[in-house]
Amino acid sequence: MNTSVLVINCGSSSIKYALIDSDPNASRLAGLAERLGSSEACLKGNTSSGKRFTQTLPNADHAEALKAILERLEGRVPGAVGHRIVHGGEHFTQAAMIDDHVIDAIEATAALAPLHNPANLAGIAATQDVFPDLPQVAVFDTAFHQTLPPRAYRYALPEALYTEYGIRRYGFHGTSHAYVSQRAATLSNRGAGGWLTAHLGNGCSTSAIWNNQSLDTSMGLTPLEGLVMGTRSGDVDPGLHAHLHRQLNWSLDEIDNVLNKQSGLLGLSGLTNDMREVEDQALAGHKGAKLALEVFCYRIAKSLAALSCALPQLDGIIFTGGIGENSPTVRRNVLALLPHFRFSVDDVANEATIRGKEGKVDNADHHGPEVWVIPTDEEGRIAMETRHCVETSE
Ligand code: ADP
Repeated sequence: MNTSVLVINCGSSSIKYALIDSDPNASRLAGLAERLGSSEACLKGNTSSGKRFTQTLPNADHAEALKAILERLEGRVPGAVGHRIVHGGEHFTQAAMIDDHVIDAIEATAALAPLHNPANLAGIAATQDVFPDLPQVAVFDTAFHQTLPPRAYRYALPEALYTEYGIRRYGFHGTSHAYVSQRAATLSNRGAGGWLTAHLGNGCSTSAIWNNQSLDTSMGLTPLEGLVMGTRSGDVDPGLHAHLHRQLNWSLDEIDNVLNKQSGLLGLSGLTNDMREVEDQALAGHKGAKLALEVFCYRIAKSLAALSCALPQLDGIIFTGGIGENSPTVRRNVLALLPHFRFSVDDVANEATIRGKEGKVDNADHHGPEVWVIPTDEEGRIAMETRHCVETSE
């Protein structure tokens, strides 16, 4: 097989793409088509020489955007297409070659991810039109967490809600948790032992990983459960929904909108969902920003401590995602709340490990669990899984 993979991540009005060669030193062509379906639709990306481009695509739909992306691949023809699919339910424990059965299964899971799975399916259909001869692979955000045991994935709800409606914890960000934990296992002499991972981006989740298998994670049925995020509340009292409805007469859509779009760092700070600004304003003494930073870090620490129950031993913790990779402050604050785990942070290394740097940021001579910062590579992981899936199906 030609070894380059076109990775596609389709949203309802956007397509993120990356053309990834199996040679890690080859340049990646990557970009984003956004505002599809509107007069402001455009495609932004980079060329192999590192130059940025922006192309307007007024009123383009997904298929037109894909054709424009194809023209930006500089004549490099992918050997396969890997699609990021948000929800695979219980159908998929690993990546799958896309055929009619797989499409039916993604459709059947759409009730669990009504915003994401239909957009992913539209992306598959448009890509099949543009590349009818290329193998296409679905790589699921949920698949890595299918190793969770029932004690971690079941909610304490009547059994029929699980057996008849699939209501359970699924977890997300699977490609990121899988990538960073396997990378740490390779880099560290502890190997694939017990790792806690914290993916902290606009969406945030933690995971407990033993021997390369996910044993628990903070997100649940949907990506709203768990940590405080940019605009998502994370965990709230399940009684909150009924309370808001009864007291404020809010509809389900209003409640959903507030918890997903107006909460998290934005709701607490009253300013922004962007951690850089939260940190700057907290330093300047803004009360809301200080509280947002405090709640954000405390909830991460609390989640990591809770997830440690899933592991027979703790070899280390890994920070990743835009915040995990770039914020020494968040890393320091989180670890300071976990003294009983005996982490020992090297402050100089912690401050210096930003902007895509990978490394261990603990004091080398201590005996407690290690602390790693590993930039995530979800696209690279999707390309790797796609290649593996195509090769094993040949
Ligand atoms: P997404 O989940 O959309 O992929 P990212 O992983 O890029 O998002 O993470 C975005 C978050 O990373 C934002 O909250 C942003 O403020 C934060 N971030 C980026 N750089 C820094 C930095 N230098 N310090 C603190 N936070 C940062």
